Amino acid sequence: MALMKNDFIRAIKIAGLSGKCVCVHSSIKSFQEEIKGGVDTIIQAFIECGCTLMVPTFSFYAFTVKPTANMRPEQNGVDYNRIDFLISNQKNIYNTSCNEIDNEKMGILPYEILKRKDRVRGDHPLCSFTAIGPFARDLIKGQKNMDVFAPLRELALFDGFVLLMGVDLNRMTLLHLAEQMAGRKMFLRWVNDSAGNPVYAETGGCSEGFINLEPYLSMFEKQIFVGKSKWRIYNVAKVLKQAAKVIMAIPEITRCKENCLRCEDAIKGGPEI
Ligand SMILES: [Zn+2]
Repeated sequence: MALMKNDFIRAIKIAGLSGKCVCVHSSIKSFQEEIKGGVDTIIQAFIECGCTLMVPTFSFYAFTVKPTANMRPEQNGVDYNRIDFLISNQKNIYNTSCNEIDNEKMGILPYEILKRKDRVRGDHPLCSFTAIGPFARDLIKGQKNMDVFAPLRELALFDGFVLLMGVDLNRMTLLHLAEQMAGRKMFLRWVNDSAGNPVYAETGGCSEGFINLEPYLSMFEKQIFVGKSKWRIYNVAKVLKQAAKVIMAIPEITRCKENCLRCEDAIKGGPEI
């Protein structure tokens, strides 16, 4: 039996998300069954419930450029002897009307939202957020190269929620903002400005260790199942306050494993410039 729009509308209401601003991280595969009308059905359900829907639409692949010699700060989560992993798109210039996205990493929901005419995309070449709905512009407007998480701060002010749709805490970008609130500086990567000159852009680091925060955040978590997909719903302001407090008290909590350079440098406090 396929999932229908009404199944999603019911879920949104039960989750307490009607009329709310919601940042969604999703795995559509997690439903493990057909969705009648595809991903658009999910989007439509949120729209009909009056939600403002925000998703990460990161695009490292298209817009990261290689750093010049004078733009290589220490403790930046990068081994500068091994930056060949950076794809060279030296000439690419980002603008908010483009639809470039790291397809495989971001998944199908962000990809579909980005294609919508009424979407608002943040002005950050690598880590933009994109939103649709009544407060889309309010959430997104503050984002810029050196203020990557403005949309998430705004989400907190709007009494918003994060919804993990069949994914784990290692997908919750909000926890990078908690790291920042705990005093860490965000890593610096490199993009072209509108004139084609290289400039810094802030980005989050490794998020694999965020699952270690589970015992400290579970009291704020509401769970429901939609088909076979587990939805975990969190109040943004509460999570931020709690996670920042825990990261300050136990910095090692965010480490994913030994020898992860990004985790190591983040725990030390981030780049030195
Ligand atoms: Zn790591």
